[in-house]
Amino acid sequence: MTLPGEMDFLILFGLYLGLVLLSVAVCLSSRREQSFSWTLIRGTNQVFSRVIPGAVYRAAQKAIHGLFHSRTSFFVVLHLILEGLVYGEYTWEVFSYCQELQFNRLLLLLPYVLLVVNVTFFILCSKSNPGIITKSNQLLFVDAYAYDGLMFRQDAECPTCAVRKPARSRHCGVCRGCIHRFDHHCIWLNNCIGAFNIRFFLCYLLTLTSMAASIAVVTVGFLTQIVLLSNLTLGHYIDDQDQEHPVDTFFVIQELFLTFPRIVFMLGFVILLVVILGSYFCFILYLILTNQTSNEWFKSARYSEQYSREEGYRNIYSKGVWANMAEIVTPLTALAEKRK
Ligand SMILES: [Zn+2]
Ligand SMILES: [Zn+2]
Repeated sequence: MTLPGEMDFLILFGLYLGLVLLSVAVCLSSRREQSFSWTLIRGTNQVFSRVIPGAVYRAAQKAIHGLFHSRTSFFVVLHLILEGLVYGEYTWEVFSYCQELQFNRLLLLLPYVLLVVNVTFFILCSKSNPGIITKSNQLLFVDAYAYDGLMFRQDAECPTCAVRKPARSRHCGVCRGCIHRFDHHCIWLNNCIGAFNIRFFLCYLLTLTSMAASIAVVTVGFLTQIVLLSNLTLGHYIDDQDQEHPVDTFFVIQELFLTFPRIVFMLGFVILLVVILGSYFCFILYLILTNQTSNEWFKSARYSEQYSREEGYRNIYSKGVWANMAEIVTPLTALAEKRK
């Protein structure tokens, strides 16, 4: 056994790392402006502004600004392409190899079942009304939550929508409307996440993480089986100096990468997704259990910096874990509506 072309491996691995980092940058860029990714983007922006001619740079900047500040299907399409690529690779190679290796049929079909459930929540999230406040329904929302007097002040009016701002609402510049219990605007769903669709968003995140995790589990199982069946770990390889070495983990990864480049690439991507989406799901779940929105969480951090500990922001909306969960399942306004 000889060492595979080290240059080939390094070129492929460099390409792979570049693509993975690009995917991470795109994923993170949907976060808020205070984040590390935005600092990174601002830094890159400054470099580009010096290298690219003025007119081209301004046109590109306008296009990118449009992507993040207006309703566009760009990220929805990108999201579908990425999902299609992962599922295409899974079906084309992993699924068929695993069938030959007689893997459990239910385990192999699990990613498809999760895909159907996830697409349902995706449609519910992106097409449902997040809680748009209009002149005709504003009274219903105004009564839903008390004003805390710090983050949300009574009698505040939205200058764009000309409606009385209910506590916990916020105007979304992308959707051009005030949203009840505003959480954030999601570019991947091309919709706001508010009181009426946060429950769908939580299920969407959970099924998306599970999809990536199930594909990762099957793929790791497949590659492990291949390594065991080929007795690869028992062999030796000869390096550039004609020295013989027993096969180590690095060699096994190189071999797998060169034999199944697409599968290893896909595995790296889905593992990364599990880490990012899993962490994000936990964060959203924490906010739900403590009855906070992402908007309030970011603002409260700012308030805590501005004011002393005694005067700092206090969450007045939490009513205990179960009551907080119930509020997500049945939004407060819906209950208020029933009572009328
Ligand atoms: Zn508004
Ligand atoms: Zn929005």
